[in-house]
Amino acid sequence: MSLITYSEKMPVPEKMKAWVLGSPEELVQISKPVPLPEKAEVLVRIDAIAICATDLEVIKYGTPALIGGGDPFNKNFTPGHEYMGTIAALGPGVDEFEIGDRVTVEIHAGCGQCKRCRAGMYTSCHNYGLNYGDMNKGHRANGFTSQGGFCQYAINNINTMIKVPDDMSDEVATLVVTAGTSMYGLTELGGLVAGESVVVIGPGPIGLLAVAVAKSLGASPVILVGTRENRLEIGRKLGADIVLNAKQVDVEAEVRAITKKGADYVIDCAGSEETVNQSVHMANRGGKVCLAAFPKNAVTFDIGYLAVNNIYLYGIRGEGKSATHRAMAFMAEKRFDPSLVHTHTFDMNDLPEAIRYAKNRVDDAIKVVVTNSY
Ligand SMILES: [Zn+2]
Ligand SMILES: [Zn+2]
Repeated sequence: MSLITYSEKMPVPEKMKAWVLGSPEELVQISKPVPLPEKAEVLVRIDAIAICATDLEVIKYGTPALIGGGDPFNKNFTPGHEYMGTIAALGPGVDEFEIGDRVTVEIHAGCGQCKRCRAGMYTSCHNYGLNYGDMNKGHRANGFTSQGGFCQYAINNINTMIKVPDDMSDEVATLVVTAGTSMYGLTELGGLVAGESVVVIGPGPIGLLAVAVAKSLGASPVILVGTRENRLEIGRKLGADIVLNAKQVDVEAEVRAITKKGADYVIDCAGSEETVNQSVHMANRGGKVCLAAFPKNAVTFDIGYLAVNNIYLYGIRGEGKSATHRAMAFMAEKRFDPSLVHTHTFDMNDLPEAIRYAKNRVDDAIKVVVTNSY
């Protein structure tokens, strides 16, 4: 039987501080055993983690987290998925990383055996959440179906980790999953967006980084649609050629005026009935629309217009097809400055306050990052 590798330079305690989800919207900090990495896994000491809107959903509604085949409440479950850290131990046979490596982590490992995982679509794994008891297919999604990062140590599959350049801060490294999600959307739309018009609706973190990634991929023009002037200004700094305030102008008419025939690509990062309809009507004939947000309720939209104009509609989930690696390549080359979306930092012990900032957008918060000090 092979063994876990530890190193004296990264001593690992037996217990750690971890936030766990009690009832809906109840987070409690407890002491938990530090987990042990198995084959193809490492133990990551968590140094920084960004709060995502999906974390807020998990904490309130449970979904899309799925623990032991059911909701994640009162199961000692630690949420949180946008983290980075330092490798503290290697599972048996792991030689892809070394103890002390700084890594940032993508969420989904997938089961590796279903049809979708075999095609690289591990964020659409058919065995999502099947990682318990006799049903264990090995699927993992940090902070959704397996333990997440609002704690001090977490287990990660070697396929989910990317080395962080020395000159990149911990806080910026947490943003690779967000940039990777934007990259995945653009990849699924076809990826060859150089010289093509791209509209991004919704300047949240994914929308703002979609602007940055689209611009880095050569899209032109890149148009950002939103309602908050300060966020539109950040979008400009990240590469938007044109910003449109939906409170001030008829955005569909403006996009048509700018692009003449409508946009080649539209990415909806807002997910409301209004923005889904705007997306469809902004796209040109044969154009493509990507739904990068999850509308909470069923929406009615102009499907006739979509069909008659041969518009393609894409749903994307997460940061699939190794998009985080491509996002990191852009970030490492400093093609854009993701730190523009990072607005606040809190200590892990103050997680509830950090969540309050993220949820209520206190002080214009966009990305709130939580750090551990050791
Ligand atoms: Zn997220
Ligand atoms: Zn799978």
